[in-house]
Amino acid sequence: MTDQPSKRCPRCGESLPLYAFGPDTGTASGLRVWCRLCVNKSAAERRERYRQQNLTARNLEAADKVRAHIANHGSQFAKVETSADVQEDRRFVPAVGPHVGLMAHGNYEAHETQPTVKDRAWPVPMEDEPTKPGGGAILFVPDLHAPYHDRKAWALVLQAARLLKPSYVHLAGDMIDCYAVSQHEKSLNRLQDFKYEIDGANEALDELAAAAKGATFIYTEGNHEYRWPRYLSAMAPQAGRLPGSSMKDLLRIKERGWIWVPYREFYKLGKLYLTHDLEKSGVNAVRQALSDAQASIVIGHLHRMSVVYGGDAMGNTHVAACFGWLGGREDVDYKHRLRANREWQLGFGVGQLLESGNVHLSAVPIVDYECVVAGKLLRAA
Ligand SMILES: [Zn+2]
Ligand SMILES: [Zn+2]
Repeated sequence: MTDQPSKRCPRCGESLPLYAFGPDTGTASGLRVWCRLCVNKSAAERRERYRQQNLTARNLEAADKVRAHIANHGSQFAKVETSADVQEDRRFVPAVGPHVGLMAHGNYEAHETQPTVKDRAWPVPMEDEPTKPGGGAILFVPDLHAPYHDRKAWALVLQAARLLKPSYVHLAGDMIDCYAVSQHEKSLNRLQDFKYEIDGANEALDELAAAAKGATFIYTEGNHEYRWPRYLSAMAPQAGRLPGSSMKDLLRIKERGWIWVPYREFYKLGKLYLTHDLEKSGVNAVRQALSDAQASIVIGHLHRMSVVYGGDAMGNTHVAACFGWLGGREDVDYKHRLRANREWQLGFGVGQLLESGNVHLSAVPIVDYECVVAGKLLRAA
């Protein structure tokens, strides 16, 4: 036994450590009365009850239709009379429109029934890509984890944007940390304020938009942005369908005129694939990305800086890259500090898209808050 502070959940009767209880500003303890597991269970039970009620209502409606049909046509549906029978026969359950499940399709464009072609970012034919004549400079911005980002490193990215005047900006995802809505066990020492995170992320995105005016922005959503639809899906699935509730809306992506690539999808810029991650991590993940994609690819997620070259049997050269990260090491707690110090590198990337669709790119590490872009030394004040 430890003398860790604990609290009893009246629903399951267990005495549990405090992190097993979600926050609640309405109680004296600041914690919810029921433990997280019970809260989730009760929500799931409630959802199932609603689902059953809905089903019954729909079955009754369907049964009416069948009866009307029989009255008009007699014949082949004569056997189907009770709502129980109707439930068996899915043909009579009216279609409820495309279910835009938060998780089901890996896409939470909740109030748009079908994602647009652009948003889906399937491999787009070359002529459909917003490739500007003559290509142009690209700025690659890796995991920012705003508002818990490294302000001095971020200032260098903004300086680089102003210097480079990129035609394209790739935001690799995890631009917002979404700590407040993470389903992971949380530290009691960290702030849990989702609005603070949204405001902080928007502030950073505004700064980048101003520094790289006129660029085409491509935002490949990461697993941290995806914490939000997962949270909604578990806690308040109906809220996820309300206009303005998606992460894309909260970050005002449409208003900004940016291209949004949902998590686990990719975007093709010239011959280069852009995505957040390929569900791998570790020291070899960039090399694995190269062999998984069999094409040139830029990913985020790893917080490591790595550029790997390789070819295919046809003699083409491919490159895979991850450009580090821009988060504040002091502010995140999901990795041991010593490992973060060793493996995570502050930095970003620059590149040039050519008319051929080829992309030349290089990593820009930030060391002692200095970096070199286009032959110029940038220093954060
Ligand atoms: Zn990630
Ligand atoms: Zn990240």
